[in-house]
Amino acid sequence: MIRIKEITINPIFNKAIKRLETTSIIHSDRSSWIIKIITSDGFVGYGEASPLPIFNEETFDTVGYALEGFKLALNEGNNIEIDELMILIKAHTLDVPSANFAIETAVYDILSQQKQMPLYKYLNSKALSSLYINGVYQLTDLNNYTTIKVKCGFRNLFDEIELIEGLSNKYGNKTQFIIDLNQAYDLPKAIRFFKEMEKFNITYIEQPIDRNNFEDLLELSFHTDIPIALDESINNLESIIKLLDMNCGDVFIIKPQSIGSFSDIEKAVSMVHKAHKIPIITTSLEGIIGRLSTMHISSANRIKNHCGLLMESIYEDEDSNIPNINNGILDMPKKHGLGYYK
Ligand SMILES: [Mg+2]
Repeated sequence: MIRIKEITINPIFNKAIKRLETTSIIHSDRSSWIIKIITSDGFVGYGEASPLPIFNEETFDTVGYALEGFKLALNEGNNIEIDELMILIKAHTLDVPSANFAIETAVYDILSQQKQMPLYKYLNSKALSSLYINGVYQLTDLNNYTTIKVKCGFRNLFDEIELIEGLSNKYGNKTQFIIDLNQAYDLPKAIRFFKEMEKFNITYIEQPIDRNNFEDLLELSFHTDIPIALDESINNLESIIKLLDMNCGDVFIIKPQSIGSFSDIEKAVSMVHKAHKIPIITTSLEGIIGRLSTMHISSANRIKNHCGLLMESIYEDEDSNIPNINNGILDMPKKHGLGYYK
């Protein structure tokens, strides 16, 4: 049972410290909604909704309306059972997964603080106490990681090869690379790119071809031994079921902002495991509240491969909330709840 005293919903503008270039955009800022829930016994929970127009149909406005609708439906000051609260969240966030993710983050933040435990332990007593995470070229300090993600697909092919070659030489032959093509290529170009990458230490290459072109993504796998990761192709449980049915993709990237509810994320991870594929959880370049929540979810779902959690200050004013990372290993913080402090 929980008694909610007050809910506030505010838009924020995350201003990036460094710029990240990708196939479709140059990332320099990110808008989000922050939901803050205060209970009558004095607990405060935070959640962040940061819509992903490339993934889902939702827009910044529809997410804001969904959050306001949820707030209006609750009688502030009344007791509500947790089961009933979860049903109410689902009812108000159909087709707006980032709103679902934000409200559940705030609720679980409160519930885990009430139980005096970190959020990941509240979700799963067997949660991992440390996580492997990857650095990102152009965004993070690369010296601190053993796996580096590089956005490619928008330079000419020779420049792409030179970049990976340079990074391989600089960070040593033990360093692994994740290449993200963000749907840049058609099948012939993708085949050629994969061939050129064979000489490097590549963990996997992400979304080489259009998200909806499952046939070509499948065909590509017959031309290469490098694992293919799917990211933009995955935006709900149905898309995962369809891809698994086709046996398309080796690595499945699950983004909480795009899937929405914590229980659906758990289902997604277990479906991917059952099909003997690799599940990865990553952030969506949102602000620190969403990234912290994603970190807890990765630990609770026991993701053992490198996750893209971006646990460095990528936007202004984030420093105080960032946990320590050594050599690409993040030790899960012991603070109660989400661990977000203003
Ligand atoms: Mg990606």
